[in-house]
Amino acid sequence: MATVGALLVGGVASAQPVTPSPGSTGLGDTYFPGDGNGGYDVSSYRIAHTMRLAKGELSGRTVVRARATQALSRFNLDFVLPVRSVSVNGTKARFTRPNRHELTVIPRTALAGGSAFQVVVRYRGKPAKHAWRGERPWLGDEREVVAMGEPQIAAWWFPSNDHPQDKARFDISIRVPRGKQAIANGRLVSTKRTAHWTTWRWQAKEEMAPYLAFFAAGDFALERGRTSSGVRWVNAVSEQLSPARRRAALAFLRKTPKVIAWLERRLGPYPFVDAGGLVTALDTGFALENQTRPTYPALADFSAGGGLLAHELAHQWFGDLVAVRQWRDIWLNEGFASYFGDLWGDGLDLASSNAMLERGWRWWDAASFWHLDISDPGPRMLFDTPVYQRGSLAVAALRQRLGEQDFWLLLRTWLADRSHGSVAEFETLAASISGEDLDGFFDAWLRADRRPARSVENGLLPPT
Ligand SMILES: [Zn+2]
Repeated sequence: MATVGALLVGGVASAQPVTPSPGSTGLGDTYFPGDGNGGYDVSSYRIAHTMRLAKGELSGRTVVRARATQALSRFNLDFVLPVRSVSVNGTKARFTRPNRHELTVIPRTALAGGSAFQVVVRYRGKPAKHAWRGERPWLGDEREVVAMGEPQIAAWWFPSNDHPQDKARFDISIRVPRGKQAIANGRLVSTKRTAHWTTWRWQAKEEMAPYLAFFAAGDFALERGRTSSGVRWVNAVSEQLSPARRRAALAFLRKTPKVIAWLERRLGPYPFVDAGGLVTALDTGFALENQTRPTYPALADFSAGGGLLAHELAHQWFGDLVAVRQWRDIWLNEGFASYFGDLWGDGLDLASSNAMLERGWRWWDAASFWHLDISDPGPRMLFDTPVYQRGSLAVAALRQRLGEQDFWLLLRTWLADRSHGSVAEFETLAASISGEDLDGFFDAWLRADRRPARSVENGLLPPT
């Protein structure tokens, strides 16, 4: 690995050595200050696990490839499981656990700023036994596990820089007892069998945020195919479900290509080379937009059309492709996913959008619904109903306010940028594309503690 610090290349800096210092223990997220870490940028995770379902025990190692963004004397990874060993660039490294969520790695030699490095962490533990700040996101029993959660799940199964600001590529191998299946993001690249075990290896071709990485292990029925635009899909349904539920779940997931094609008509090409979905038998209580393979709960209403699919698949653009800058920007994920979920069944045309807007504006007449500032809802209200429903109506109102041309130009420009977006940046882009002052509009829809007045300015009446 190159060890010449970028700052020293070309003699830009003087010969004075940079004193290595510890990487910060967070990335400055206002809601979750311990999430993510400073001083480095991860390029890839290579995860190799054994999942002993009967014992609820996970063991293995993760290889983290990263680049130092400063001269590092030590750095943190986010991880809750007991660690057995750590090495940096092939040399054994010291480590400490300053609290239940952080792993501090102290390399034998400091890392030069700009240098690429590789960390190998080995561990063994029972994820269900670990809690952090009241979070206990691990879901599993002796027959099935599914690692899915938001904003936190990664730390319960692999060491990472756990924040949407640091996307990376993933290679995930899960070894399960022979006869069981392990499903993760991206593409299945191999299944290797020994007398007692099968190792399922999945690769995500595009980078993703750590919370969007997932795996499920247990007994699953798999189906695969290609969408009309050539995207490969893999669907998986738990065999712990009754035969009737399993059939309904498979039929539900088979709508995925159709929903993707529907979204592509307005949002442009689906952003990844792999797709699909998974239905777990576990009572998760929520669905999640795991990148390329959303997970749906056992109790989902599979007969209710594709609204839930449209929500999770719209997240592949809003949330997965374009990640939030900070968790406070959650409206950019849930408002837009909810908007497309709400339109499924009616249609993507302006008349359907306006009808949905009118219905929602009338329906949500309780003052309590309008109290939450959805541009900064706070960590405890991050997934509260208004973030979704007020959030969806805000998108519909923006569409009526801007008109078809500017609205879709805005969304496609936003998506093409592929950055880590903030609500403030979205507001600025909307104003710049429309050439209009939208401060009053966004205050009314995102921040004011009352229902927006019925006006042209608020997008509740057609433009005059
Ligand atoms: Zn969502």
